[in-house]
Amino acid sequence: MSEKTTFTGHRGLDHEEQLIFERGRDAACGVDLPAPDSVATRLGGMERNGSVGLPGLSEPEVVRHFVRLSQKNYAIDAGFYPLGSCTMKHNPRLNEKMARLPGFSDVHPLQPTSTVPGALELMSELARWLMELTGMPAVAMSPKAGAHGELCGLMAIRAALEARGEAGTRTRVLVPESAHGTNPATAAACGFTVDAIPATEDGRVDLAAFEAKLGDDVAGIMLTNPNTCGLFERDIRKIADAVHEHGGYFYCDGANFNAIVGRVKPGDLGVDAMHINLHKTFSTPHGGGGPGAGPVVLSEALAPFAPLPYVTSTGGELKLVEDEQSSDADPFGRMVAFHGQMGMFVRALSYMMSHGSDGLRQVAEDAVLNANYVLASLKDVMTASFEGPCMHEALFDDRFLKGTGVETLDFAKAMIDEGYHPMTVYFPLVVHGAMLIEPTETESKETLDEFIGCMADLARSAKAGDKARFENAPELTPRRRLDETTAARKPVLRWTPPAPAQAAE
Ligand SMILES: *Cc1c(COP(=O)(O)O)cnc(C)c1O
Repeated sequence: MSEKTTFTGHRGLDHEEQLIFERGRDAACGVDLPAPDSVATRLGGMERNGSVGLPGLSEPEVVRHFVRLSQKNYAIDAGFYPLGSCTMKHNPRLNEKMARLPGFSDVHPLQPTSTVPGALELMSELARWLMELTGMPAVAMSPKAGAHGELCGLMAIRAALEARGEAGTRTRVLVPESAHGTNPATAAACGFTVDAIPATEDGRVDLAAFEAKLGDDVAGIMLTNPNTCGLFERDIRKIADAVHEHGGYFYCDGANFNAIVGRVKPGDLGVDAMHINLHKTFSTPHGGGGPGAGPVVLSEALAPFAPLPYVTSTGGELKLVEDEQSSDADPFGRMVAFHGQMGMFVRALSYMMSHGSDGLRQVAEDAVLNANYVLASLKDVMTASFEGPCMHEALFDDRFLKGTGVETLDFAKAMIDEGYHPMTVYFPLVVHGAMLIEPTETESKETLDEFIGCMADLARSAKAGDKARFENAPELTPRRRLDETTAARKPVLRWTPPAPAQAAE
C-alpha cells in the first residue's frame, strides 16, 4: 500500500474535498452584475447588518465541488451492491426515459384533473397491475415508502377495528423477532403493543409460540414473506387462518415480493394488507433515503378504509376522489399532500410492461437462482445460517470467523478495499454477526463469480490468520474507519467559521 503523501493532499485524481464553506471566499461572487442604484430601504430597520455567510465561488468551482462529491458516492451504476433486504437492482434506462416524458415529468399536482387524464390513467393502470400480481381487490397508491405503507396498512386495520367497536380492546400486534425494525416501530407508532414471536432453529416463525399468543386482544400480525432470513414462511396459510379465526388481521411486509412476483399471489395466502416497495421489486432508483413508493394492496375487509386520494373508474371515466364527501367508502384520512410519487409510478409501470407477465415471473426466478448460486458457492468457506436453499437472499453468520480475531464488521470493511460495497451486516438480529447478501436478478454470472471469488479469498485469508488485512481496513479509501456511532448520535450538521484569533495565528 502506498503511504506516499502528496503536495495537494489529493490522491491521484481522487481529490481531498474541502467543505464548500472552507473553499468559498466572502467577497467572491459567481455572477457579475452592475451594482444596483441606491434604493431606499423599506425594511424599517430590520435589514441584515453582517454578511449572509454564503461561500463565494465561481460557477466552475461550484460545479466541480458537487460533481466530485457525487463521484464519492457508491452507486448501483458504479458497481455491484449486495445489500440484503434492500434490493439494489439495476434501474433500466428505459424507465428513466419514460419518467422524463414531459407529460409525466411536468405535471403539477394542483393542475385541474381534466388536464391530466394520462397521469390518472397511468396511476390506474399501475394499480391494476399491482392488484393482478398480488391477487388483491384494492390498492392505496399514495404511501411514499415501505415504512409509510406499513403505517397505511396499520391505520386501515385500526379503522376497521374502530368500525367493529374493537379498537379499544384489540391492542396487541404480533411481530416475529426477525422482522425489519420498521414493523415494530410502525405498530408502536399506531398505538399498539408489540409482542415478539420467536423464531425456530430453521429461521421461521415458531408456530406453537405464535398460536399461544393469539387472543381477543390481538389486532393482527405483521409478517414478512419471504422473511428477512431469505426464507419462505411455509406455515403462512396456517398463520393467516389462525389470525383470522381469532378476529385479527394479517399485515404482510411485502418488501421481499421480488422473490415471488409472478409465482405467488399474496391474496391466495390470506393477506389483508401488504405494502409493495416499488423501489425494490419494480426497480425504481433508491438509496440515501429516497425517493420511494410503497403502495398498499388491501383485502375486501380493509379496502373501504383506504386513504384519500384515490382514482376510481366509472363507466370508463377516471375520477380522482379527494375528499370524504365525494367518497362512497370510509377512508381513514389522507397520508400525503398529493397523490404519491408520480415519477416512481412511471418507472415501475415501465418496468412491468417491458417485462410482461412472463418476464416478471422470470425476475423472481432469476433473483432466487442468483441468491442460491451465491449461497451454494460460499457455504463451504463461510457459514450459511440455515440448511437448504434460500429465496432471494443468502444469509451467512460469523461462525467461520471464530477464533480468527476478525469480526463481521472487519470483514465488511475489507470488502471495501476490494472495491465492493459490503453486504448488509448484523441484520437480521436472529443470527450472530449476520451477513445478508442479495444479488437480485440483474447481475450476470460473471459479476457474481468475481464477487464470490473475492469473498472466498477474504474468508480464506481470515482463517489463515491474516488479521492485518482486516483490522486496518479499509486502507484504500479517502477515509478509514469512522466513529459511526458518534456520527449518528452527535452529528455535526452546521459549519462554524474558525475563530478569528485562530485564523490570525
Ligand atoms: C426495506 C424494507 C422495509 C422498509 O421499506 P422502506 O421503503 O425503506 O421504508 C420494511 N421491511 C423490509 C423487510 C424491508 O426490507
